[in-house]
Amino acid sequence: MAKVIDGKTFARRLRNYITAQIAGLKEYQGEPPGLATVLVGSDPASEVYVRNKAKQTVDAGMVSFQYSLDAGTSEAELLQLIAELNADPRVHGILLQLPLPLHISTERVINAIEPAKDVDGFHISNVGLLGSGQKALVPCTPLGCMMMLRGQLGSLKGMHAVVIGRSNIVGKPMAQLLLADDCTVTIAHRHTLDLPNLCRQADILVVAVGRAEMVKSDWIKPGATVIDVGINRVEREGTARLVGDVDFKTVAVVADAITPVPGGVGPMTIACLLFNTWTAFCRRNGLPEPDENAFSLVDGIGVLNEFQRQAN
Ligand code: NDP
Repeated sequence: MAKVIDGKTFARRLRNYITAQIAGLKEYQGEPPGLATVLVGSDPASEVYVRNKAKQTVDAGMVSFQYSLDAGTSEAELLQLIAELNADPRVHGILLQLPLPLHISTERVINAIEPAKDVDGFHISNVGLLGSGQKALVPCTPLGCMMMLRGQLGSLKGMHAVVIGRSNIVGKPMAQLLLADDCTVTIAHRHTLDLPNLCRQADILVVAVGRAEMVKSDWIKPGATVIDVGINRVEREGTARLVGDVDFKTVAVVADAITPVPGGVGPMTIACLLFNTWTAFCRRNGLPEPDENAFSLVDGIGVLNEFQRQAN
């Protein structure tokens, strides 16, 4: 039976790491790290996400600036707000909650965000930096997947990774990150031929499709590590439930390790938003780059605090 990769524990460790680092800032002058969240309209799911993100921001010791705009807000008004946040020294990260209303160009607004504050990693500059192997702000979901994979497997060098899904927010950056960690990477999509056979060759299988329990146990190479990004709402015996893109029960019999849904990739995505805000803060202030992997070694306690180390 596969080990369950506990995203909640990983996320707690990462939050503890960030909180400990921020606590060390007390010895420093200047603004604490700040994250601005921008929500346009009143989609209930988006409202919950933004509230959750804002709460975790404050819990970690950062400042949360929340902007909730009317669904009728024009693109020009939104761009004006983004320009103000770009110029605001208290704001280190800007999170634009998607989707935006249809009358606004998502691409134009994302690309108006100052790349150094683009904590979602969606700005074309960050996409280009990641693609060319340079220091970037990396999209939160694939970053969280990488942290869990490294925590689970150590080095990923030489492994064959198959990523199902090629979206700009998950599939493509995931593939870039796996490549940067020396995996041999195959990206699959709707038109891939014989997907089950391709998946059977994967040491690492990342699934980001949005189809409930599509990946079955006979798609899995024995001993593989499976990361299930999908979140699908289904009706089971009259009750609404969340399931992933992977048929967890049967796949867990064949795989070596697997993320559950819920409780896998989801919690790490929000924790990585905090990580990216902390990274943006450190880069702005010329502080040491946060360590993507240090947090997984210990449970947030006794983590070497860069600021304390510098102070000594
Ligand atoms: P998109 O809809 O943007 O992309 C889905 C991808 O899956 C596309 O590349 C599509 O291929 C591919 N696909 C669809 N059907 C098939 C199929 N039958 N066989 C092979 N490939 C297929 O989705 P996202 O990447 O935004 O999200 C994917 C899932 O991850 C969703 O369930 C979403 O809710 C979840 N998610 C979870 C997050 C978290 O924090 N846990 C964060 C972000 C997303 P093609 O390009 O050819 O159309």
